[in-house]
Amino acid sequence: MADDGQIIVVAIDGPAGSGKSTVARLLADALALGYLDTGAMYRAVAFAVLSAGIDPEDEDKVAVVAETLDIELRADGSVIVDGADATAEIRSAAVSRSVSAVAANQRVRAELVERQRRWTRIRGGGVLEGRDIGTAVFPDADLKVYLTASPEVRAARRAGEESSLDYATVAADLARRDAYDSSRVHDPLRQASDAVTVDTSDLTIEQVVASLVVMVEEGSQLGAEQ
Ligand code: C5P
Repeated sequence: MADDGQIIVVAIDGPAGSGKSTVARLLADALALGYLDTGAMYRAVAFAVLSAGIDPEDEDKVAVVAETLDIELRADGSVIVDGADATAEIRSAAVSRSVSAVAANQRVRAELVERQRRWTRIRGGGVLEGRDIGTAVFPDADLKVYLTASPEVRAARRAGEESSLDYATVAADLARRDAYDSSRVHDPLRQASDAVTVDTSDLTIEQVVASLVVMVEEGSQLGAEQ
């Protein structure tokens, strides 16, 4: 991707609770790049589907919602859906339960992947996090990272973020979503063969970000030398 030495695309994939969002946001800051939370886009569609009373499994109706929805991801982390602030609503338990079904819809994926590529083109690069960034959205990204952590650590992190939910509920939701996201037909969660795997179970966020900054810098130097 960095043929001209200017455009840097970093793809960060992994299951829920692996630390993707925090790591991706801090890495983007460190590299002075934009940050895109693609999961928030799938959540925004699931939120709009539920708000409209549409069955998340109704493929045609869900696809039309995705193709016509206005989604704005602001730099402060807020998510605006059709002009209304839905930052909290897209993280609700109801949205978490239905988002994987919405994300398995091929037309939804095609629409959101196109928006993700456009977002990156306009900014001349970025740090994108999700499930399929290194495998489908940007298979030629400069750096592909697969973040992971043990199921127990991931559930404990999510339960800590969401004080209204107990550990057992969060652990069950993550296990169900992991299974759904990994087994779907279109762009399932899987590790790109050339991705660097980082197990964040026993690392601090700062350690993970620092090691990724080094990888990006070394990669762009190699690119400049060629
Ligand atoms: O990252 P987050 O857990 O918020 O993502 C919510 C859901 O969106 C995931 O469980 C997955 O079903 C879907 N997703 C996806 N592809 C992406 C990002 C998220 O299918 N690139």
